[in-house]
Amino acid sequence: MATKYIFVTGGVASSLGKGIIAASLARLLKARGYTVTNQKLDPYINIDPGTLNPYEHGECFVTEDGAETDLDLGHYERFTGVPTSHANNVTTGRIYQNVIDKERRGDFLGKTVQVVPHITNEIKERITALGNTGNYEFVITEIGGTVGDIESYPFIEAVRQLKWTLGRNSIVIHLTYIPYLAAAGELKTKPTQHSVKALQQQGVQPDIIVCRTEKPLTRSVKDKIGLFCNIDGDSVIEDGDVRSIYEVPLKMRDEKLDLQVLKKLEVPIKKDLDLDNWEKFLYKLHNPEREVNVALVGKYVQLQDAYKSITEAFIHAGAELRCKVNVRYVNSENLTADNVDSELGGQSGILVAPGFGTRGIEGKILAVRHARENNIPFMGICLGMQCAVVEFARNVLGYADAHSVEIAPATTHPVIDMMEEQKNISNMGGTMRLGAYPCQVVKGSKAYDIYGSEHISERHRHRYEFNNAYLDDFKAHGMMPAGFNPDSGLVEIVEIPQHPFFVGVQFHPEYKSTAMHPHPLFVAFVNAALTYRP
Ligand code: GLN
Repeated sequence: MATKYIFVTGGVASSLGKGIIAASLARLLKARGYTVTNQKLDPYINIDPGTLNPYEHGECFVTEDGAETDLDLGHYERFTGVPTSHANNVTTGRIYQNVIDKERRGDFLGKTVQVVPHITNEIKERITALGNTGNYEFVITEIGGTVGDIESYPFIEAVRQLKWTLGRNSIVIHLTYIPYLAAAGELKTKPTQHSVKALQQQGVQPDIIVCRTEKPLTRSVKDKIGLFCNIDGDSVIEDGDVRSIYEVPLKMRDEKLDLQVLKKLEVPIKKDLDLDNWEKFLYKLHNPEREVNVALVGKYVQLQDAYKSITEAFIHAGAELRCKVNVRYVNSENLTADNVDSELGGQSGILVAPGFGTRGIEGKILAVRHARENNIPFMGICLGMQCAVVEFARNVLGYADAHSVEIAPATTHPVIDMMEEQKNISNMGGTMRLGAYPCQVVKGSKAYDIYGSEHISERHRHRYEFNNAYLDDFKAHGMMPAGFNPDSGLVEIVEIPQHPFFVGVQFHPEYKSTAMHPHPLFVAFVNAALTYRP
């Protein structure tokens, strides 16, 4: 079968959940036995979101091959279990950079380089490149932003051209919002009509319209939308409120989104939907038998999207254990020696989050100390692991000024040091230690119990490392390395065996947790929190 291309655009408002719809559709197609990949095109000029402040854009999601990507890629992976890569997230910046590089190389043979066709061609190549791998029957490409935005024009134009050349092998799904006016007691379709008109003005006719709505869409509302937007009412899909994003695939199944897609693309139905495991997961998620409180200590707590993958990993682990995990987001900037006991009191687990820079660092170190001294289950991720090492060096090894050189370059005890390969790097974007690296887990460690294997692979995103010059010192005092990079000897996991659960990891386990495969470290951490009673 020729690869089928599905484009997902959005109108009326942002934050309607295009990523969730795209991920849900992918889940349904996968559940019918097809191979699928999700792609996101982002209209901003940054080359990738790696340099964006998480307050602006939420978490930066890291792929196996080390791409720093939009957080929607996390949803795609969590819903489908299909790993994404550099090719799955492309920004305007990346497109322009490529075109300009080609221009400098002389690839355009003296031609004037223009938005149309050069930029649009580059966009089209990025979309079809995924189909050309031969690995996917369906490529679902989400266009970031809302139609009518100046910056998304070249993307919509590329969609128009592809739709024309691909014919029956492509469709456009447009996601809109249907507001309910309480005073009139009515659902209003006009914003949707306008947003479809905006799309049509750019030459694109949607094939399916998915409507975010807080009230059920009646048949007559669906027919009305259909009539004004040139589609039949069956192709208007209701996307109502749900208890959790993980319910959206079932909503879309009930609305027959997958069947509409297959029909429009003239794809024969391969098999019945198999969503048994997904439904089991949802059942466990929605019927917890117990609860547990954990604190997530970080500095980006005002915007919870900044820790999206961690939050979702707790949801997966909680479902696995039939346990509702109440995550309390604690701002490390406000933690002091005086309030740490009360701020973290009542918590059965403490997770110190990844991050960068000085702000809030001492609060994180205080949180580690609180967990270590009170035997509260602790997990440190990346910067959180580095804080655990610094705290141990200061308060157990007695090196009062111990620090990471990221924060205190002049420290006399650089227990977290810059990696050798990082020392001559001046560009900030895309230059960290990124993506999946193997890790050799030490037999007899807690990590070994948890993973059940000596050989694991986890994703990284950092510049600084445990300083092996101090390794013997740490071991002699009870902080043990439990995982190493087999090639470089870099410490990837530290533990305190005397503590009921104290695990710091230099990598990011949260990126690999999915609905169907909760991450074992999160499951073990939540389990430890369940056995701890504050
Ligand atoms: N800032 C630290 C480093 O670069 C940790 C990064 C992180 O937590 N992702 O090493």
